[in-house]
Amino acid sequence: MLQQVMTAPGVIEIREVPVPEIGADQALIRIEKVGICGSDVHVYHGQHPFTKYPVTQGHEVSGVVDKVGSNVRDLRPGQKVTIEPQVVCGQCHPCRHGKYNLCEQLRVMGFQAPGTAAHFFAVDAAKVTPLPDSFSLEDGAMIEPLAVAVHAVKQAGDVKGKDVVVIGAGPIGNLVAQTAKGMGARKVMITDVSDFRLDIARECGIEECVNTTKEAFGDAMVRVFGPDKADLIYDCAGNNTTMGEAIAHARKGSTIILVAVFAGMASIDLAVVNDHELEIKSSMMYRHEDYLEAIRLVEQNRINLRALVSKRFPFRQYQDAYRHIDEHREQTMKVLINVQE
Ligand SMILES: [Zn+2]
Ligand SMILES: [Zn+2]
Repeated sequence: MLQQVMTAPGVIEIREVPVPEIGADQALIRIEKVGICGSDVHVYHGQHPFTKYPVTQGHEVSGVVDKVGSNVRDLRPGQKVTIEPQVVCGQCHPCRHGKYNLCEQLRVMGFQAPGTAAHFFAVDAAKVTPLPDSFSLEDGAMIEPLAVAVHAVKQAGDVKGKDVVVIGAGPIGNLVAQTAKGMGARKVMITDVSDFRLDIARECGIEECVNTTKEAFGDAMVRVFGPDKADLIYDCAGNNTTMGEAIAHARKGSTIILVAVFAGMASIDLAVVNDHELEIKSSMMYRHEDYLEAIRLVEQNRINLRALVSKRFPFRQYQDAYRHIDEHREQTMKVLINVQE
């Protein structure tokens, strides 16, 4: 079988390796689709602080169960599945209290642990989440980023009836906006500096799409929501400009959730945070319940994942996928690899 290996930043090899053996508690998954996200691109450029080479990538994934180990009861060959890529210790304080997304020893497949970019992947059955038969394998590969959005949206508790702003209309911002709507938010406004990304948000049903190079963030908040502005702001861009605007324009006493990985050190106005009694929260990855909620939202047709797929590449052209992303960064949302093609 073939396996992707990034031997150094920017160098991808497709290697012939044996199909892995599985243990009694494992399943062998025939991998179908692998998504490439911003973190993968950081690895490709040698800019991911917590990834060493060589590394096999792949953490946004769908596939079909090929066979299961003797102890595995709840998976059957032929079943469509996705994989939760977190490898956790189970012993630390967060793990012991159900917050294994914050495991002190957290490793993630495709970064600090081998990823799924291979024809077959052996994995603990506990990490495998079945998908409904009706699911497309492309949607299945996007459950991981959607689970990021679900986890982020839930950091604010119940969003039903809330007015929500999402800063950043890349894949995660788009999915946070769609998830907030899907979970019952009253009105959702999304902002970006790219009309391309805002057009996709519009296609996904977000009614208020604001280009902040054309309308100031604070003005747009008041135009869309009135003088009371919004209940929640999700920062899915994560830089001093976006967090600065969120803090400057948030309604007093409201909540800001940092979803993006923040770029560099923050210089934000904590005096305003204090004076306006703003609540600043953050969100990191997801847990199993977020995967289940993500699958439910897709099943209920509340999320348009297809609109996010910019391009698809066959497995042997993995490197071309990154070249494409580099050359079309402004016109790229999600790139998928057809692993069996
Ligand atoms: Zn990702
Ligand atoms: Zn742990």
